[in-house]
Amino acid sequence: MTNQPIRDARLTILGTGTSSGVPAIGCQCEVCTSADPRDRRTRTAGALQFIDPGGHARCILLDCGPDHREQALRARLTRVDEILVTHAHVDHVWGLDETRRYNIMQGSSIRLSSDAATLSSLRTIYSHILGDDPGPNGNDAWVADIETREIRPGEPFDCFGLRVTAVELIHGRMPVLGFRLDAPQGMAGGLFPLAWCTDVSTIPTASEAALRGVTTLVLDGLRDRPHPTHFTIGQAVDAAGRIAARRTILVHLAHDILHDRLERRLREATGAGAGAGAGAGLSVEPGWDGLTVAG
Ligand SMILES: [Zn+2]
Ligand SMILES: [Zn+2]
Ligand SMILES: [Zn+2]
Repeated sequence: MTNQPIRDARLTILGTGTSSGVPAIGCQCEVCTSADPRDRRTRTAGALQFIDPGGHARCILLDCGPDHREQALRARLTRVDEILVTHAHVDHVWGLDETRRYNIMQGSSIRLSSDAATLSSLRTIYSHILGDDPGPNGNDAWVADIETREIRPGEPFDCFGLRVTAVELIHGRMPVLGFRLDAPQGMAGGLFPLAWCTDVSTIPTASEAALRGVTTLVLDGLRDRPHPTHFTIGQAVDAAGRIAARRTILVHLAHDILHDRLERRLREATGAGAGAGAGAGLSVEPGWDGLTVAG
């Protein structure tokens, strides 16, 4: 079976929290003590599962942070074929050691794609996996088997039948990657084109153009108070409007955000068909750990 369209695609939002996670250690605020399970947020990451054109089950991770093990258990992940890494901050890559389990289960290495700066940082952080230096694992210890692929913004590449294009985002003063994923043969449903844009404070004009019109947009929306390296909720809603995504899911949420309150506020602000205001016709919602979007 070859060259079938991509099918059975499903994005699982594995984590929706900011770098400290929610609850934050030791915090007694109303969000950190909330009984609503949607207010418990592991670090932001995603898993895109689908059947590729050859009929094989595939899983692409979108970042792989320190909560990966718990996230994988909850989502019942059994394989990973590709890891798309936005940047090398701790909350996005400190779960890569855990991927060694997939190597054993699937009997193959895992490809990791990111830009040159991120790969350089990863070679330092993970010298025992990606470098020549075995470091503390001098006893031929069991480490992950990862092959790296350097990518550049604006240069699409294939990922098991999906066309992936990295776009440059600005995260404070630092350029990071967002990802746009297209199913080239078309696919009915509400997922593709899909864009993953976490950790962003400015979207350059060219990147905004490259993202325009996606069906599903996963977007940074830290909190309401301004932050030097992340979108506020208001900035995220504005960006979602310019990009005109059909459905926008906010992630990287801080402990300032009570899920239920933000959900109601966004529903009122963006109308959900109310036909009024700048956000009319847009759907913007807070994400929660375990939320899935089917293709
Ligand atoms: Zn982050
Ligand atoms: Zn708190
Ligand atoms: Zn970051």
